[in-house]
Order: sequence, then C-alpha cells, then structure tokens
Amino acid sequence: MKRPVIYPVFLPQQGCPFRCVYCNQHAVTGLPERAPSDAVTHGVKAVAEHGRRALETGRPGEIAFYGGTFTALDRESLRALLREAASWTDRGAFTGIRFSTRPDALEGDVLDLLAEYPVRTVEIGAQSLDDAVLEASRRGYDAARVTAACRAVREWGRRLGLQLMVGLPTETEDRWRRSVLRVVELAPDFVRLYPTLVLSGTMLARWYRDGRYRPLELEEAVDRCAWAADRFDKAGIAIARMGLHPDPALDAPGAVLSGPRHPAFGHLVRSRQWRRRVDAALERAAARWNGGSQAGQGDAEPSPASLEVHAPPRRLSEVMGPLRSNVSHWKDRWGFRQVWVQEADAFRVRFQ
Ligand code: SF4
Repeated sequence: MKRPVIYPVFLPQQGCPFRCVYCNQHAVTGLPERAPSDAVTHGVKAVAEHGRRALETGRPGEIAFYGGTFTALDRESLRALLREAASWTDRGAFTGIRFSTRPDALEGDVLDLLAEYPVRTVEIGAQSLDDAVLEASRRGYDAARVTAACRAVREWGRRLGLQLMVGLPTETEDRWRRSVLRVVELAPDFVRLYPTLVLSGTMLARWYRDGRYRPLELEEAVDRCAWAADRFDKAGIAIARMGLHPDPALDAPGAVLSGPRHPAFGHLVRSRQWRRRVDAALERAAARWNGGSQAGQGDAEPSPASLEVHAPPRRLSEVMGPLRSNVSHWKDRWGFRQVWVQEADAFRVRFQ
C-alpha cells in the first residue's frame, strides 16, 4: 500500500491543558518553546511553505498539525491555521487537513467549526484504553471518553487514527492487551504505536530517578507491540507507524534518559511477528506429530535438518530478523541445522 504524503506542521504543546507526565515535545521535535501567538504565526508560515513545495513538486498530500492539542487552540488561532491550510487545499497543494488532538478536546461545538474546513483525518492521542493506566499517567480522561471521541469522529465521517503508547506507568502485559483489544473494537482506520521513553525535563524523569517508574526493556516493548500488531493486522487496521520519528534532537546527550528506544523499532516489531508466525506453524506441526497423525514419521518434535521459510520478497529482511536473529532463534529452539529464507508469493513453512 502506498503511503500518503503528509506535510507536518509541529505546534509543540500548543493548546494542551497541561504538560503530560511523559511529554516533552521540544525534545522530540527540536523546536523551541514559543508563545502561543508566535507558534501560530510560525505554523501559518510553515503551511504556506509546504503548500508552495507541494505545488512545485507536484506532490499533493495532507497538511498535518501535530505536537499539541490542535482542537483546544483558541478559536482565532485555530481558524487562522485552518484558513491557511484550506486556501492551499483549494489551490490543489493539499488533499485535505489532518491533525492530532486529545480525546477530551473533541467535545462541544468544535466539530461544527472544523466542518467548515476540508478536514479529512483526525488522530486521537488516546495512549491507552485502560482506566488505571490513564489515571496513573495523569492523562485527565478515561477510556469512555476515548470511545466517545472515536464515535464522534466516525459519525462526522472522517478518517480516524488512534495513537497508543506502550509501557506507560502501571501498564502490565494484561492491561496492554485489553487496551489493544478495545482499540480493535473501535476499528480506527489506522493506529500509531509509540514506546514510552523517559525524556529529560518531564515528570516521568523524576519518577524514574525516584524509582517510581521503570521503563520497559526494548525486548518487552517489542513483544507487546508484536502482539498488538498481530491483532491490528488481523482486523485490517493499518499501522501507520511504530516508534518515534527519528529526530536529531532526541540524539542530544541527556535528551532520552531511559526507555526502549531503537532507530528501527518498527522493523524489530515486524521481525518479531515473523518469528512468532513461524514458531506457531512449527508448534502446530509438533502437535500433529505428538497427536500421531504423522505416525511412522519418527520423532515427537519437528526436528529435521532444514527449515525453509517462504515469504514475499519485500518481507525477507523482516523474516530473517536484525543480524539474522530469527534464523538463530529457529536453529536454537527447534534444532534445525540449516534455515533458508526464500522469496515466494505467500508465506509458507517447509522442513525436511
Ligand atoms: S496532550 Fe499530547 S502534546 Fe500535549 S502535553 Fe500531553 S502528550 Fe504532550
């Protein structure tokens, strides 16, 4: 599937009712702190620059407002940004407007105001659908409010995206899974999955130093996201992103104090999904062996000499895993002497 072109405009923490415990948009985007009026002036300019570039390059896309609580901006600022975006949309530079916002900032008459502009996509920063996790993370709303916001966007007829964070305070594997299943029920058009990092200058950094918060290890975060990605894939919910956007600001010394950060986080998750998929196929084979349906073939375990994993060409590096870690895993776990990963139209596992 071709990725849509997105022209992002970051408005760090503009419109936010307070600073969330894990959030430091200035560290994530590298943009300085600005007074609201300054931020909006810069935002309007950025929209125009993107508009000109889109026309010059002949690549229209969605203009996207990220990094704050867009729909909680004061009305004048909101209209100024929407007006500029709409004017470039009329000229053919943009295909429409998208923005991210908090679930509790989609209430009241703001949808009526938005309806005057060519908004196509709404991304809701839900982060979790577990009340205990939301409360411990001091998000200021509960899961019911997320559900209501999703319903409002659906009734409004716009594309719906949900952002989730893995590893928030008090999250357990069970809570994460329940939260993911609730997202599946809400059936957004797409999701984004972000690992919770301990960023400098946040409340979470203080909790981390006090021993009150422990971030997930990279392996745990990858495992949880792989479980979630399996569910989203099965439900036909697109995953627009896994992991933070790479930004040099995050590489600055001391910007990230701890947490499951990896430049290719999404690739790690996809690789883990393939590992599990192959393991599951081999477990089924082992069960058949143990159940006797393959009587006469010998062992109770599928432990022949070689394993062939067939997969579509553009998935081969995910199948092998970083540094061929999946290949090593299958050799270690199942005793294969050789593992071949080969191109094919569809996924298939063979061993002999
Ligand atoms: S609402 Fe979003 S952008 Fe605003 S402080 Fe919280 S996490 Fe950051």
